[in-house]
Amino acid sequence: MTSQTETSCSRCGSRSKVTAYDGINVRETPELKAQVLDGSLFVWECPHCGARNLVRSQTLYHDPDEKLMVWVTLGSAELEERVGAAYGALPEMKDYTLRFVDDAGSLIEKVKIFGAGLDDVTMEMAKYVTRMELCGNMKDRAEEISKAPFKFLGMDGADGEITFAYPLDGQMQMAAVGFNVYEDCRGILKRNPAMAAAASGFAKVDAAFVGRYFR
Ligand SMILES: [Zn+2]
Repeated sequence: MTSQTETSCSRCGSRSKVTAYDGINVRETPELKAQVLDGSLFVWECPHCGARNLVRSQTLYHDPDEKLMVWVTLGSAELEERVGAAYGALPEMKDYTLRFVDDAGSLIEKVKIFGAGLDDVTMEMAKYVTRMELCGNMKDRAEEISKAPFKFLGMDGADGEITFAYPLDGQMQMAAVGFNVYEDCRGILKRNPAMAAAASGFAKVDAAFVGRYFR
């Protein structure tokens, strides 16, 4: 499902017709999954100046094999309310992981997390723990780090080392943690069934979600 929108280039301001994806089913069009993961699906190049611009569209990503649906809502509370009411209670959705995200970058991260066989609630907790630890190690930068958005980049090697990226001083920094951090968070989550319950149905699982349970 695509639609055409007319939009302005962020560099030269000239108008272009841009193809936006309203819905992607990666079983029907598996090649689109790679384009989501490398971000190219959400980029359009200006024919006048060559600038690469972001496509802003409320895309529904659906992977029937992973039973994963992620809706990029661009932060629209109206859309989230409407979708939450319509899909949350459907019986065929009960085995699904259903997520709202604000932007394409967050969709890419969700696809990476679930593609690695991991869970995003646990991952948000692992980010929280990692952020706290970095704040403790770099006390003079704790203010900035505590506010920085952390993104899951990947899991590597036999021991499953997890790498996060976060911005600091306008540059991307990396933080790598052992898989034990993730396992510890999974243990904490098991002892907090209210968190798992809050993540069922269409939910926005991000730093703010975890922040409601840990302070
Ligand atoms: Zn341009």
